Amino acid sequence: MDRILIVEDEEAIARFVELELRHEGYDVGKAGDGRTGLDMALSGQYQLVLLDIMLPELSGLEVIRRLRRESQIPVIMLTARDTVMDKVSGLDMGADDYITKPFAIEELLARIRTALRKRPQAAPADAGLTCGPLRMDVARHTVTCREQPVELTSREFEVLKLLLENQQIVLSRDTFLAKVWGYDYMGETNVVDVYIRYLRSKIDDAFGVDLIHTVRGVGYVLREG
Ligand code: CA
Repeated sequence: MDRILIVEDEEAIARFVELELRHEGYDVGKAGDGRTGLDMALSGQYQLVLLDIMLPELSGLEVIRRLRRESQIPVIMLTARDTVMDKVSGLDMGADDYITKPFAIEELLARIRTALRKRPQAAPADAGLTCGPLRMDVARHTVTCREQPVELTSREFEVLKLLLENQQIVLSRDTFLAKVWGYDYMGETNVVDVYIRYLRSKIDDAFGVDLIHTVRGVGYVLREG
């Protein structure tokens, strides 16, 4: 079931949209300010974000600007002001679509279906990324180990995906930085070690498996045993 995040400070609107979405069979989360909304959107728990523009803490435009550094989750902007600038800014920053309030719920639902369809197509069900008991469904953004869900942040998910796609191959910290953080990343290189530690704690330690290995002086490799 797809989970949709509503980031909207007007409780009446948020509540109305939530009820309609639940009626359509979606799971729904809500955030009443931009900062909470950004954190929730990055949690990896949602498949689509409905994002108001005028929000406390962080504006909707700022939320999408920061969100797009890490995530390609579909975003539909909800804007009260039918101004060209808001739409253009939002689309420039990576929103997938926008809808102007007040909107007909049917139109919103149609746009949600379209945005969800545009996601990268799922690989065939039997072709998920797996390594022993570990399984990743990239399209659904889910990871399981021994059939139990593993809750990952979106960055942890990307690090693990790179490992799964390159099983048996030792990856250097620079490779992780380039592929996951981007070439313009200027921070500490030990951020990779930190994320590997998070993943080990959530997978190897939590499930008593031995999948993520350190190759001293070189980097990390994912393999069984
Ligand atoms: Ca608002």
